[in-house]
Order: sequence, then structure tokens, then C-alpha cells
Amino acid sequence: MQRYLWQQAEGLRHAYDAHRTRLDLGVTFPTLCGAEVTTSREDVGKWLRPTCPTCDREIRTRLGPA
Ligand SMILES: [Zn+2]
Repeated sequence: MQRYLWQQAEGLRHAYDAHRTRLDLGVTFPTLCGAEVTTSREDVGKWLRPTCPTCDREIRTRLGPA
């Protein structure tokens, strides 16, 4: 089963493959939009960043219609 989660990093809220990535503070991880981003302390707690539009489109493609 596919499992994706959202994580704020480097100014946007990205989606990532939760099977392949275990996230911790300061960990660089691959996103569904193809970027490699790193979470920092300010990414934890409040979710103020906009959703990454490419991740949003990609996750809908992968998961298909609900
Ligand atoms: Zn993204």
C-alpha cells in the first residue's frame, strides 16, 4: 500500500514517500516534486507554508481518484 505524508521544509509543504523516508529534524529527504529538502527547527509546530503545487498534483496522480 502506498503511503505519503506532508512535511513543511524550505518554505513549502511537500509530500514524500513515507515508506522510504524516516523524517527527523535536519534530515534531507526527496519530495514527490523531485526536490531534496531539509527540515529545520522552524518547520516544526506551525504549518504556515503554502502547499507545494507540484507535490499536490503528483500525489493526486499517484493515489488516483478517491
Ligand atoms: Zn514539492
